[in-house]
Amino acid sequence: MSSSAREAKYWHVDKGRVVCTACPRHCAMAEGQNGFCFVRKNEGGRLATLAYGQPNAVAVDPIEKKPLFHFLPGTTILSIGTAGCNLGCRFCQNWDLSRARSNHMRAMSLPPSEVARLATSEGCASVAFTYSDPTVFVEYATDAAIACREAGLATVAVTAGYIGKEAREDLYRHLDAANIDLKGFTEDFYAKLSLAHLAPVLETIEYAVKHGVFVELTTLLIPGHNDGEDEIRAESKWVVEHLGPDVPLHFSAFHPAYQLLNVPRTPPQTLRRARAIALAEGVRYVYVGNLVDEEGETTYCHGCGEPLIGREGFAVRHNLLAGNDHCPKCQAIIPGVFDARARTASAGIRHGLL
Ligand code: SF4
Repeated sequence: MSSSAREAKYWHVDKGRVVCTACPRHCAMAEGQNGFCFVRKNEGGRLATLAYGQPNAVAVDPIEKKPLFHFLPGTTILSIGTAGCNLGCRFCQNWDLSRARSNHMRAMSLPPSEVARLATSEGCASVAFTYSDPTVFVEYATDAAIACREAGLATVAVTAGYIGKEAREDLYRHLDAANIDLKGFTEDFYAKLSLAHLAPVLETIEYAVKHGVFVELTTLLIPGHNDGEDEIRAESKWVVEHLGPDVPLHFSAFHPAYQLLNVPRTPPQTLRRARAIALAEGVRYVYVGNLVDEEGETTYCHGCGEPLIGREGFAVRHNLLAGNDHCPKCQAIIPGVFDARARTASAGIRHGLL
């Protein structure tokens, strides 16, 4: 195995090929071949992960950027990710990283214990495995999550949720929160635009909620592809029926990128209409993203409608929660983790460390 590689955990051999089981794609690799994500490779008949301890993107972000609105609002989060992704989204908003090869990019040497040390020294309350998808570097993300929790930091995944069962079990037991992309609500959308499948994503979302990971969902609305009222209604109904009304749902605006340059930006009215549909279907906390919209960025009490947390962009403008968990007017408990003991940094800052 090459000096920059490390043996991966999730694989077996079938018909002379190494089969990666980190995600449902199950890439079968002949000697020297890479998987679809280009982060995992058959080296000498064993599966190597090429990115362990070597993130290609490291930055401090406001946690609202993930987006997480009900988890430690107003704090900063150390965010790390590698190049490469296990989905093939034609609309990828981050394609310069997801379609890149990790060994062609600058990387920081950052073993798991150093992730925790760096987050602490940067004053972050949490660490996110993000940017492309932690599934492709799941061994590293899991070990870093363990080290971060030991250091008193919260752990977050920002992910498409397209992950193998064994890898999911190992990683998610060390996660406190996740923002999971629900990219559309039909198998057709996933097949044609993400080269993946919807069913395993829904399974992961249910798994995460059931196992106590605080989940928020994000759907990027792409004009003409996944923004139909029926699809949004079906997604919202599924959320309420399978997860309950308290899982926050974000609808965010698409901008033309990667292979969908001919599709226009998402109009603001599409996002507002989606939010209205989800609220009408019983999702209690629905937000709009990539759009300045006071109403769509505010947390309102589901009990009495009182505006509780006001935001502008990625900054928290006010937080009126009482006792870090309830509405001061009607006493309704607001779902989330709002503990002010977490270190609070000036929201809105972002600086790259790599
Ligand atoms: S994680 Fe990468 S190599 Fe493994 S199955 Fe998924 S796409 Fe293939």
